[in-house]
Formats: sequence, structure tokens, C-alpha cells
Amino acid sequence: MESFPTRHWHLLEDGRVQCDVCPRACKLREGQRGLCFVRAREGDAIVLTSYGRSSGFCIDPIEKKPLNHFLPGTSVLSFGTAGCNLACKFCQNWDISKSREVDTLADGASPEALAAAASTLGCRSVAFTYNDPVVFMEYAIDVAQACRARGIRAVAVTAGYMCEGPRREFYAHMDAANVDLKAFSERFYRKICGGELGSVLETLEYLKHETRVWFEITTLLIPGENDSDAELDALTRWVADRLGPDVPLHFTAFHPDWKMLDTPHTPPATLTRARAMAIANGLHYCYTGNVHDPAGGTTSCPGCGAALIVRDWYRLLEWNLAPGGRCVACRTAIPGAFEARPGDWGPRRQPVSLRAFH
Ligand code: SF4
Repeated sequence: MESFPTRHWHLLEDGRVQCDVCPRACKLREGQRGLCFVRAREGDAIVLTSYGRSSGFCIDPIEKKPLNHFLPGTSVLSFGTAGCNLACKFCQNWDISKSREVDTLADGASPEALAAAASTLGCRSVAFTYNDPVVFMEYAIDVAQACRARGIRAVAVTAGYMCEGPRREFYAHMDAANVDLKAFSERFYRKICGGELGSVLETLEYLKHETRVWFEITTLLIPGENDSDAELDALTRWVADRLGPDVPLHFTAFHPDWKMLDTPHTPPATLTRARAMAIANGLHYCYTGNVHDPAGGTTSCPGCGAALIVRDWYRLLEWNLAPGGRCVACRTAIPGAFEARPGDWGPRRQPVSLRAFH
């Protein structure tokens, strides 16, 4: 792997070097790697070992990230690298996030090649996804800059588990994000993810109050772990109180994976219950995901109740937005990034090779 210099670290008195990118604060001796495995000590510094390498590329609908209020219907060039700074037992991309194999990073891609590919393939944005861009922030930032130079937006799909300084640097280069709010209890974050809730809430408040980044939140509901009425009530109240009613919240269905193979699938009724609580607590845009649910896939006008964007899974069925992202009936402005017409990518998922773009 290549070594790329990084900035967010400091030398400790005992000779170890501490990484300051995320709250794990890994303290490394020569030759050691952090928990994310892709940041490593070399000499008296920490380097990124996955710069310019990817675990694969795919063109997705932007609704798959999920982002429902950001250029609906358009395609996004998705990619990830390897490694993650959380250790979620239900990880649905564990082959990538837990990878310690160079083989996983089969595709090389310079920021320029990625931006050129997105442009040629007609993608309106590039998404850092599959694994958390927090751990490859230097690479993600360079890709975002190359993309912005071509008018292509940058999207982060992240758990938001990041320290303040790196967070500011990272989001200065992002146009949109989907942040996982994995639960609303420290117990869940500690026991199931090996992290802590407080830093994630700080990221959400930072995004809302100190940036212009468009962001939506996703909570994967896991039976018996984070789906009680009390927890869902607290989570949705917090979003409404601290972030306001206009931040979209997605409740998605769990399927057994990685180290939680004995936990059952999420019943659709759980998603419907969670969505009803979010709406009762004042949220204007709450969606259900990974299920066919006409109500949970529809963006309704908070002013008059008209159905503005009707979706089935990743497919757009109806578009009733006036230019400027306003309700055709009552002219209420809908928050997000909307164009006069939706994209026409549809629900397709198309793997691509970047070899032609080097
Ligand atoms: S980014 Fe990686 S090396 Fe740095 S503190 Fe987090 S887990 Fe440790």
C-alpha cells in the first residue's frame, strides 16, 4: 500500500504517536496500525495507507445513500476503500470495513481519474460509502476537490464518529452527507459499535448549525436493541429539538449479518411505528427504507399535505415540485437541493471499472 502523509496526530511524552482523527485516539508505536487498520505509524508520524486505492466502484441512485432531498433521481458514483473506526456487530459491509487484505483494494483511482469518470458517466455526485470516509479523509478531500472543479458534488456516508478539528476540515469539502445515528443510547454504541453516542450528536449539531452541508440521518432499527418506544421517542425528540423539523430521518430495516446472525429481520410494522413517532414529535420528513411502503417513501408538503415526491424503494413514481423546490399546490419551500426536473437514473446499480480513466 502507498503511504500518504496526514496532519491530525501528535507525539506523546512516552514516545507513542496519537491519532487525533476520531475519538478512539489510537496511540501507536513504530509499525503499529490504528483500530481502523488503514492509518499507521511510520517514523514519528501517522500515514494513510489506503490513499488512491478503492474496493470497487458502482453507479447507484442517490436515493440509495439514502438521500431523498439531494438531486432526486440522479446517479452517484459510489466507492469505498477499506477499514472502519467503529466495530459494529451488525455491519452490512464487513468484508470491506473489516478488511486487512490489500487484495480488497484492487482498483487504483487518483482523484482526477475519479472526477473524470463521474463526469463521463453522467454522475452528478461522488459518494464516499461502503466504509467510513473518516478513516480516509485525506483521500476523500482530494477527490471532493477534483470533483468540485468539474461541477460534481461530494457526498459522505458516515457514522459521524470524528473529532472536532478533522470534522471541520472534512466537511468544508463536502456538499451532502448521510449520517448514521445508530441508536440513542450510550449502551448500544459501547456494546454493539465500540464507540460513543456523544461525538455523533456533536457532528449532527455541527452540521446543522455551523455548515451549509445538506444532510439526512439514517437509523437502522434492530429488533430488541434500539427499537423501544422510549428510545425512539427520545431520538426523534432530540432531532426535532436540536436540529429542527426539516432534517430528513430514515428508518431502515435490519437483516442478519456479520456477528448478529441470530437477530431477526426488522418487521415492517416497527418502521411504521418509528415513523409515526417521528411525525408526532414534529419531524416533517421521515422515511422508511429497505421495504415497500408507499407512505414511508413519499415526501409530503408540511404546508398542505400534498404528495410531492412519491417513491417506491429507489424508483421515483411522481414528481409534484415546482421549480425552486416548492410545493405545486401551496408554494411551501421544501428544504434540500432540488432542480426543475428530477434525474432519470432509476433504481439501477451498475458496477464500473475505472481503468479507462487513468
Ligand atoms: S482514525 Fe483510525 S487510527 Fe485514528 S483514532 Fe480513529 S481508529 Fe484510531
